[in-house]
Amino acid sequence: MKILSQSSSPMAARSREQCAELDAHDALATARELFSLPPGIIYLDGNSLGALPQVTASRVQDALERQWGAKLIASWNDAGWVDLPQRLGAKIAALVGAAADEVVVADSTSVNLFKLLSGALAQRPDRKVILSERGNFPTDLYIAQGVARQLGGNHRLRLVERHELANSLDSDVAVLLATEVDYRSGSRLDMAALTAAAHAAGALTIWDLAHSAGAFQVELNAARADFAVGCGYKYLNGGPGAPAFLFVARRHQQSFVQPLSGWFGHEQPFLFEPDYRPAPGIARALCGSPPILSMVALEAGVDTVRGALGGESMALLEAKAAALTSCFIELVAPLAEEYRLELITPREPAARGNQVSYAFGDGERAYALTQALIARGVVGDFRTPDIARFGFAPLYLRFVDVWDAVAHLRAVLVNREWDSARFRSRRAVT
Ligand SMILES: *Cc1c(COP(=O)(O)O)cnc(C)c1O
Repeated sequence: MKILSQSSSPMAARSREQCAELDAHDALATARELFSLPPGIIYLDGNSLGALPQVTASRVQDALERQWGAKLIASWNDAGWVDLPQRLGAKIAALVGAAADEVVVADSTSVNLFKLLSGALAQRPDRKVILSERGNFPTDLYIAQGVARQLGGNHRLRLVERHELANSLDSDVAVLLATEVDYRSGSRLDMAALTAAAHAAGALTIWDLAHSAGAFQVELNAARADFAVGCGYKYLNGGPGAPAFLFVARRHQQSFVQPLSGWFGHEQPFLFEPDYRPAPGIARALCGSPPILSMVALEAGVDTVRGALGGESMALLEAKAAALTSCFIELVAPLAEEYRLELITPREPAARGNQVSYAFGDGERAYALTQALIARGVVGDFRTPDIARFGFAPLYLRFVDVWDAVAHLRAVLVNREWDSARFRSRRAVT
């Protein structure tokens, strides 16, 4: 196991006062007030489930009582329900470097992966390989397996290590399916470079932005990305199980055909024609009726991100996230060395997302440690086999939260608080 030494770093001596000073000069400091956070909790799990924005309850209440309760079916037109997937997609597009008509909100990330992967493979009929990484998020792999099976057995999923993706692109690869930020290590791929390599090999790209959208600056079009999916309930704060989004680059929209040819993707759903004709643009990626209440909550989350930026670019969020994660890594370094926690997240800020993960070499201990921290109000999470994961949502976390979280971590380690039976029994969601 790698033993880390950071004691020579000048930042390792950072005090709580210095952290408070950073907060005092933080351009995003007031964004925290846009969220409803429970007192006494340091929430380092916004990468799994974003916090509740202040505006969400009243927006959902209005959608329930006024739009649905009082106005009933008229709200499909009058409250703009019918084009909410596109309107909300356009808002998300601005956060991920896409044009307004290239993103739409629909279904779950998993279902969107199915639609995009099926559609992308159909664009490369002479190629039979989906290239992805062995450690990719399981739903991405499961969906790819399902799509390959569905296509009758000629297609296959080729899995390599994350660092081998670029070198594994050959003339058999139809689609590169890559997740920009790895859910375990937090490492971030170079989207522009890998997309260019895929294109040079004649392959298309599908990027999973689950841990990217709303977290930092994503530049889909600058990277010439072909397709992408993203998650609504992580850094976009849309609430548990929020709808997801998908991106189809404008140059692919006319030829993109997806298999879930439901009526909301039809060119004119209310002509009720017997034959499917795909809508001309991104709307063809839709399937059935949008879940309006969930989309209203997601819109509140997206509006909260946009409002916090106040016209600034996502670079503002990215800079703060980099500073928060760097601060955490520096403060944990002496503990990591003493207690043999292996930092598995890249030290270079541009090479990571907004999370920091440590491998413990012992899954029981890593799980118990996250539970002991939760008992102290520091909420991170555990990922198999032995990883404690801490997410840093830059809109609602302060530098003093980072300092306090590390103080709790120190206490848990020094007092061996993790070494207790009550922290060992695993619940359904870790
Ligand atoms: C969270 C996450 C998902 C979630 O998929 P759902 O269908 O929304 O449950 C997908 N991919 C990655 C990489 C994720 O981190």
